[in-house]
Amino acid sequence: MQTYDYIVVGAGSAGAVVANRLSADPRNKVLLLEAGPASHPWARIPIGFAKLINNPTANWLYTAQPEASTNGRAIPVPRGKMLGGSSSINGLAFVRGQAQDFDTWSQMGNQGWSYDDVLPFFKRMESYEGGGDDTFRGREGPLRVTNPQPTDPLSAALIRAAAQVGIRHNPDYNGASQEGIAMSQATIASRQRMSTARCYLDPIRKRPNLHIVTNALTQAVKLDGKRCTGVRYSVGGTVQEARAGREVVISAGSINSPQLLELSGIGQSDRLQGLGINVRHALPGVGENLRDHYAPRTRWHIGAKGYTYNDTARGLGLVGQALRYAFSGKGLLGMVAAPVRAFVRSRDGLEAPDLLLGWVPMLTEHGPKGPILSRESGLTCYAHPMRPESKGHIHVVSSDPGRQPAINFNFLSSPIDAELTARAIRIARSVMTAPALAHLRVKEVAPGADAKTDDEILDWVRRAAETTYHPVGTCKMGSDAMAVVDARLRVHGIEGLRVADASIMPTLTSGNTNAPSIMIGEKAADMVLKDAA
Ligand SMILES: Cc1cc2nc3c(=O)[nH]c(=O)nc-3n(C[C@H](O)[C@H](O)[C@H](O)COP(=O)(O)OP(=O)(O)OC[C@H]3O[C@@H](n4cnc5c(N)ncnc54)[C@H](O)[C@@H]3O)c2cc1C
Repeated sequence: MQTYDYIVVGAGSAGAVVANRLSADPRNKVLLLEAGPASHPWARIPIGFAKLINNPTANWLYTAQPEASTNGRAIPVPRGKMLGGSSSINGLAFVRGQAQDFDTWSQMGNQGWSYDDVLPFFKRMESYEGGGDDTFRGREGPLRVTNPQPTDPLSAALIRAAAQVGIRHNPDYNGASQEGIAMSQATIASRQRMSTARCYLDPIRKRPNLHIVTNALTQAVKLDGKRCTGVRYSVGGTVQEARAGREVVISAGSINSPQLLELSGIGQSDRLQGLGINVRHALPGVGENLRDHYAPRTRWHIGAKGYTYNDTARGLGLVGQALRYAFSGKGLLGMVAAPVRAFVRSRDGLEAPDLLLGWVPMLTEHGPKGPILSRESGLTCYAHPMRPESKGHIHVVSSDPGRQPAINFNFLSSPIDAELTARAIRIARSVMTAPALAHLRVKEVAPGADAKTDDEILDWVRRAAETTYHPVGTCKMGSDAMAVVDARLRVHGIEGLRVADASIMPTLTSGNTNAPSIMIGEKAADMVLKDAA
């Protein structure tokens, strides 16, 4: 059996960072286990997200349990499965969240997680190429982040329209204030996706003290009493074990981290016993506190020609887009998933925005192998509350590590989430009908002019919405009875075991979750190294 100082399970947004920082000291022998392959050709090109969303090689392709809020639909839960994890298949938008998100975590008792505490890690991780204020932005980190300019006529018109309904242009929503409309900052540079595989692992592949094993499914962590001693994993059907002299860090993401704890006998006693899993440590919060953004995509027909990819990327237009990407890195192939986004307040008097709107310059349909461009010209605008209060759960349904856990979101169970979802759609309507867009001859397709009351709007939401793929919270950080890890990300009651990924977030950050997951990886590594010193 091989012995390492540290074993990191999962090479995603957070895990790749942890492995990089721990192995920077040549005295630390580190094993990084990743269930998926090393790479995929579509993971380099930004538009590859549309190809990987349905790809079984690079994506776990989970689905959620049908529920009333989805009108009985089993909505998709894509998760990256390769080096870089979900940062290798995601929509590339770079959003930190608000200072208040982290201050809230701190106020919940998590010492060291206020915005002042985490800002140095957000700065350390990035090389921001978009100008802005050095008080907030980093220039020398591994992750390249860019900020496109609103030079295309559609984005420029959306920003003007937002201004007409009181939403100001804020070029750096990751700076002093999040509020306003802006072009999406992106983990795209030199025409390519900047995943954590690309930025944190590629440059250090030759470190002799870092051993990366791909296609390695970790089945359980090994325990000696209440101490974690290593992991059991399978590669190509062969089961192996590795020993951790110091610590195991689980970074398998919000679905698989709680799954791995439960498979290891750490979780709700009754549930595990019922599945024949030997209970090693009772911890009732494992798999609970699941939160995600339930995000309806409103659809708009555009009468004027030439503004959306439905007009400019079909047939010969697609060849033009390929050439444009080859020469400038721009256009459909080089785009971030929602190039324009707005952070807005649902009502006056709020301290900070609570709603997110994101515009995609096309209409798409479900094709057999993923999204395809619709024949109609138009655009999509998703609109949703940023800090939902509805909570669901994720639990194993079998002791078989190859079986997907049951994912229950329980969306809209909090009345405030329903109210804010309807409000977000009304704000999207106000932007889309502002005078600055009149020349586009905009017509609402969905939810449609007939959806007037909140009930009618929410009826459509239940039939049509999907998530924006931001599950968090299932190994919550905290000190209450339902917390799974403490503020140093150590699993309560177990020595030598931490969780470091999106699952530790006690609440959902205000926006997309890649940037905060990478920050969590940075901070986790810092704490592991300091605790070992
Ligand atoms: C389709 C999609 C679009 C998204 N768009 C955006 C966006 O535009 N902007 C944004 O900020 N966020 C976006 N997100 C969300 C963001 O990417 C995630 O929140 C973030 O990557 C989560 O990081 P993580 O480290 O928690 O998990 P992940 O990055 O998912 O990493 C977990 C890793 O662990 C591996 N793993 C799991 N189980 C095991 C096991 N048993 N053994 C070994 N390895 C295992 C997985 O294969 C994976 O590589 C998107 C996500 C998806 C899926």
